[in-house]
Amino acid sequence: MTIDEAPRDVLRGGPRELLRWVATGAAVSRADLSRLSGLSPSTVSQRVEALISQGLLEETGAGRSRGGRRPRQLAVPTGGAVVGAIDLGAHHARVGTLDLSGRVVQARTLPVRIEDGPEAVLGALLAEVTTLVGGDPAASASGSPADALRGVGIGIPGPVQHSTGRIVSPSRMPGWNGFDVASFCAGRIDVPVIVDNDANLMALGAHRTAHSELDHAVYIKAGTGIGSGVISSGRLHRGAQGSAGDISHCRVVADPAPPCTCGNAGCLEAVASGAALVTALREQGVPVSDLTGVIRLIDDGDRQATALARQAGRAVGEILAVVVNFFNPQVVAIGGRLADCEPLLASMRATLYERCLPLATQTLLIERVAAGQDVGITGAAHLVIDHVVAAA
Ligand SMILES: [Zn+2]
Repeated sequence: MTIDEAPRDVLRGGPRELLRWVATGAAVSRADLSRLSGLSPSTVSQRVEALISQGLLEETGAGRSRGGRRPRQLAVPTGGAVVGAIDLGAHHARVGTLDLSGRVVQARTLPVRIEDGPEAVLGALLAEVTTLVGGDPAASASGSPADALRGVGIGIPGPVQHSTGRIVSPSRMPGWNGFDVASFCAGRIDVPVIVDNDANLMALGAHRTAHSELDHAVYIKAGTGIGSGVISSGRLHRGAQGSAGDISHCRVVADPAPPCTCGNAGCLEAVASGAALVTALREQGVPVSDLTGVIRLIDDGDRQATALARQAGRAVGEILAVVVNFFNPQVVAIGGRLADCEPLLASMRATLYERCLPLATQTLLIERVAAGQDVGITGAAHLVIDHVVAAA
């Protein structure tokens, strides 16, 4: 199942925004919501009733009176309703349950062998979501755990066709090409399942967590692979098919141009991804087995690893400069395991300033994604929450 978000102006005072104001504590009553949204008390009441009937809001007794009848207080239920979220990576998956305000209830990291194929991997991860929901005392207290689960959001480390939830030509995911994740999951779990690219989910999670006041943002996910997610006018921009933001096979200059998994040479992914750094170091005779080893070498100031990280940062910066000149975002944030790699970040930043129009960088924020290891499952949860709220 897939959804489309409404443009931000339509959402002003929409159910999602009302829910978020209550979740963040900005509003505790219908009167607060009316004041914040500018909507009439009757319209607010109507929307609040719809959210209450869906179990997305609850009333918790009486608040403080300002004279007259004491107003009933609104809250997001802390127990009873959760969404499941899966952020699948090359070697690990983060699996969690989150409440309807997007807060993590439970989360754990599981090792994953992507080469075991989609049925085995997704089957095990869905089972883990069910286990987490079953083990949540608050969810169990409200009835059967199955009733508590409102939907599952899944992030895939490869291109996902938005309209179908199908994976299309992923790198380093043998056996996954063309796999219909949405249909597979729908056959195993009786709630809406929403599938998206992992960089999109990181973008959504980071934007809702740290930058919800900004309308235009680009989030780079730099880990084993490399990709980006775009927030435009406050909403996730997927483009026609869902491939918007996929910068992994944009060509960058590298001499000699290293071959890429896509069949071309000199792609950003072949120069600047974690997998590319592992390959390049091995070719230079450095016995490194994975990205963790590369990051350790860079942290230790290893000359070869640091030089490669700088080269990777320049390559990311060159592609990003085109993106920034074209799209004019307010913030560019980098997440993923390479985001803490200082030489990469420094050369990316320098290249951006060198190659961008002064008007584009004048007030541009260049940051690390601060939301930590749960940013992907947070984005996945928000996809599902938006869907549930839209249905209400
Ligand atoms: Zn490529």
